[in-house]
Amino acid sequence: TVKKCLVSACLTGLYTRYDGCIKYSRPCMEALAPYHWIPVCPEQLGGLPTPRPPAELIGGDGFQVLDGRARVLTRNGEDLTEAFIRGARQVLLLAEMMDIDLAFLKSGSPSCGTTPLAGVTTALLQRHGITVQEF
Ligand code: SF4
Repeated sequence: TVKKCLVSACLTGLYTRYDGCIKYSRPCMEALAPYHWIPVCPEQLGGLPTPRPPAELIGGDGFQVLDGRARVLTRNGEDLTEAFIRGARQVLLLAEMMDIDLAFLKSGSPSCGTTPLAGVTTALLQRHGITVQEF
């Protein structure tokens, strides 16, 4: 059987990026070739629109957001923490429903990033034993 994985929707060229641009990652698409892949955008799943204001992790990483010790804010101070956590939980739910233990996620995102800071979705998936590969 072909192994399943999740992938950040924006890496596949879907219209999910905060800035409304459509891009895709050729290296990621090549890495996905052996898999059945399911695109997900945690920020859209959390209820946010596209395009949307850029947001950043404030006071810690995604793990600390999950623990209530850091927040996700836009530059003008709007607090999007709840939407980010809701979206992360939706992605985890899908991974569990589909019995998926691998995710290819977009670097540098407050949801999907691994470096320089773990995003909120990355943190929740890793806490549940799902391997996150950064692209
Ligand atoms: Fe959505 Fe993650 Fe891509 Fe941001 S990085 S657009 S949250 S899939």
